[in-house]
Amino acid sequence: MSEADSRKAEQFAAIRRLLAGIKDRSPFYCGKFAGIDLADVRSWDDFASLPLSEKADLRDAYPLGLQAVPDEGVIRIHSSSGTTGTPVIIPYTAQDVEDWTTMFARCYALAGCTRLDRIQITPGYGLWTAGIGFQAGAERLGAMVVPTGPGNTDKQMQMLTDLKSTVICATSSYALLLAEEVERRGIRDRIHLKKAIIGSERWGEKMRRRIAAELGVQLYDIYGLTEVYGPGIGISCDHQCGMHYWDDYLYFEIIDQHTGQQVPAGEIGELVITTLKKEGAPLIRYRTHDLTRFMPGACACGAPYPRIDDILGRTDDMVKVKGVIIFPALFDEVLHQVDGVSSEYQIMIDHLDGRDTVTVFFETADGAHREGVEADVRRRCKERIGLTVVPKAVAVGELPRSEKKTNRLFDNRY
Ligand code: ZN
Repeated sequence: MSEADSRKAEQFAAIRRLLAGIKDRSPFYCGKFAGIDLADVRSWDDFASLPLSEKADLRDAYPLGLQAVPDEGVIRIHSSSGTTGTPVIIPYTAQDVEDWTTMFARCYALAGCTRLDRIQITPGYGLWTAGIGFQAGAERLGAMVVPTGPGNTDKQMQMLTDLKSTVICATSSYALLLAEEVERRGIRDRIHLKKAIIGSERWGEKMRRRIAAELGVQLYDIYGLTEVYGPGIGISCDHQCGMHYWDDYLYFEIIDQHTGQQVPAGEIGELVITTLKKEGAPLIRYRTHDLTRFMPGACACGAPYPRIDDILGRTDDMVKVKGVIIFPALFDEVLHQVDGVSSEYQIMIDHLDGRDTVTVFFETADGAHREGVEADVRRRCKERIGLTVVPKAVAVGELPRSEKKTNRLFDNRY
């Protein structure tokens, strides 16, 4: 049996263990799998016929309907942001926290971090999973943690220069904000950063190059979501060809978001995750709404873990305008090719005078000829995306930065 086949066999055995008795342990799955005899799941095809779960389903289980162990087994909860109202509460057992820490330490190791690194952690702490996961993994590795959390730019700069942090963990938008601040203060030569570990929201090549250049770092994309442990379930390596993920803890599928069927190998679709070992709140065929694809073959780094591509967008980001499907990654690609365009942009879709209009705001470098750049953006959007847009150049710094995720596409039609 090949290594891949034996890993698949191990994964399926883990799925069988997960399914056995899940309806007794979990009120959520008792409802979800009502009328299904899980003992009949004997093949991958059987498994792929089980119903998918959505974030909305998890929200309906508020507060603790996802809990699949007795109360004495739960040591912590985390909660995903409740921008649409009710949050999702995820209970963790001691083993879940241990497993998450193991995965996170693997992330740091794959990024080449060692016990000698000083790791400054800017993601938030608290109900949200990010900060504490970054910290636990770094401590497991044996590095020195500098737990700043988000905000307070003065303090961030002080820690970077005085404590000589070598690794910074941040969202891409916050890393950009810090990079701009380092440049503004002219303290680049007092910064000792070597690596930046960046939360895996979709971000463009230009933004990536600016952060790398201004902070003087190699960048690593880290992946995760609160419902599935948190960040740390996958990371890119030195070869920057997608992200490795830990297939001894997680089973990934890529599906067609409309049909729910798995797409052929290598095609782009929606990532669906099953947790193989999670106890407190296991997830079975959970829809992430992240768009990606499996990367073929082995990675040049030699790590024995499979890869998915960078997150290409969100299925919810895909909107239809004048019959054309668009999502932010398309604009990333177009704007990347235009000289004089900086990394920040926003897309506004409006319905004016009976028709849809798409306005693309983008930042231009000082001294760029705005009319010329706008004409170039209009022409390339027409060629590449097949859409006539209204280009609007603004100065660098005019578009909003955020410490959390940056929303780039605003559909104001409804
Ligand atoms: Zn690799």
